[in-house]
Amino acid sequence: MKDLCLETYTEEIAPLVFRENHRQLEKWGIQDHLASEWLMFATEELGELAQAIGEWQYRGDPAENVVKEAIQTATLCLKIAEMFQVISFKEANDGRN
Ligand SMILES: [Mg+2]
Repeated sequence: MKDLCLETYTEEIAPLVFRENHRQLEKWGIQDHLASEWLMFATEELGELAQAIGEWQYRGDPAENVVKEAIQTATLCLKIAEMFQVISFKEANDGRN
């Protein structure tokens, strides 16, 4: 599989991430967890992505299952990036780094 270089990100992928974010918020509300817990959730989703890829590759399951799991993983990873971006800004302003 050749890298598509996120050429479809803005039109195709980003809307799926925003939709997944809203789905998660509707299901769980605004969550507040330790960083390690966020990592656990993202890792769990990554495991589901691995399973979906395996089932697509070896059992002929639909590619849309892979897309769904990748978007769920990406959404959690982006949430982690956003939270740590805020921490990073605070650290920079506090002169920690
Ligand atoms: Mg999943």
